[in-house]
Amino acid sequence: MRECRLPDGQVADVGCRGGRIAEIGALIGRAADREILCEGRAVTPGLVDAHIHLDKALLGARAPSRDGTVAEAIRVTGAAKRGFTREDIGDRARRVLDMAVRQGTTAMRSHIEVDPIVGLMGFEATLPLRREYAPAIDLQLCAFAQEGILQAPGTEALLREALRAGADLVGGVPYNDTDARRHIDIVLDLAVEFGVDADFHTDFFDEPQHLHARYIAAETVRRGWQGRVALGHMSEMAALPPDEQDALARTLAQAGVAVIVLPATDLYLMGRKDVRSPRRGLAPVKRLLAAGVTVAAATNNVRNAFTPLGTAGLPLMGYLVAVAAHMGAESDLGQVLDMLTTHPAKILRLPRPGLFAGAPADLVVWDTDRAEEVLSALSPCLLVVKAGRITVEHTRSAAEPWRARTRTSP
Ligand SMILES: [Zn+2]
Repeated sequence: MRECRLPDGQVADVGCRGGRIAEIGALIGRAADREILCEGRAVTPGLVDAHIHLDKALLGARAPSRDGTVAEAIRVTGAAKRGFTREDIGDRARRVLDMAVRQGTTAMRSHIEVDPIVGLMGFEATLPLRREYAPAIDLQLCAFAQEGILQAPGTEALLREALRAGADLVGGVPYNDTDARRHIDIVLDLAVEFGVDADFHTDFFDEPQHLHARYIAAETVRRGWQGRVALGHMSEMAALPPDEQDALARTLAQAGVAVIVLPATDLYLMGRKDVRSPRRGLAPVKRLLAAGVTVAAATNNVRNAFTPLGTAGLPLMGYLVAVAAHMGAESDLGQVLDMLTTHPAKILRLPRPGLFAGAPADLVVWDTDRAEEVLSALSPCLLVVKAGRITVEHTRSAAEPWRARTRTSP
């Protein structure tokens, strides 16, 4: 790749071999199977979506929300699930994967619901996609107990079955069960038993009424599972007094527990009862980063009752974080970009991404010479490279006939 703008602002050639970056510098005269002329455009690592739901995306009018609450979203989506078929789940998942790949996502973790309503149908539909999409995206599938474990008897056995069938990790939602601590214990015990990571939907309310993150952090350390547990949402944390936010951030950092903010859903579903100055419902991103917590921003839902909008593109999630978390300064935007690349890669325990020799050749060329404009201006993705091979090439053109008319007007 010729004339790439690197994160430090320098322009250099990036040579890829065997799926990795082989060298960076002036590589004039070197033979290559394929040369890409970047003309000083920004090149970033491939984007990593640490939290999405492929199985219940694009439900649209099938399961609309009226009240816009979490409880309603769980209820109407649960009802829609009864009509799912394997083909239907697979079709919607492919559409979302295509949307994500075209926008520069090269790795993804999707929650797939496993419960007495759908059984393992979600897995049967999505497991084959891991191989089908492997040339374009690394796909992790999380066996996720959306309906609870204790209040949905049979779920624990189904989670085991999914893990035996090839699920990459296990996930829970302690706020949607009759005994949150028991729920957390079951998920963490399964993670340890199967040697996989755990990923919880956690503390997703306006008021700090659950704070299960504290228990999860303690139990993570007790099991020696540091670095292998992530928490999605965490909006309740933002409602704590500042000193308690900092204390919880330190606890998470020490326990090696990561946080994944889901700005589209968090902003959409939180603050619903606030009639004046509705809260944003976003975890305190700056405090978490300052405490050394691994923090990713991810998509979560794409057009269902939890979030009736969505493009499956991560730059828009970064844009939302920059606005909602007050992170619009240039240095902040660099951190937000890390929340779409290095931080989520760490959560998925992928090789460290970056523009350095030895890093994975998962790269995106953007139509800008400044990487922060990927977020601040939503500069379009031009080209995506996965493991050293081009997976997506966008061609852009715009005709502007009005200019000709202006020139010829009297
Ligand atoms: Zn989610």
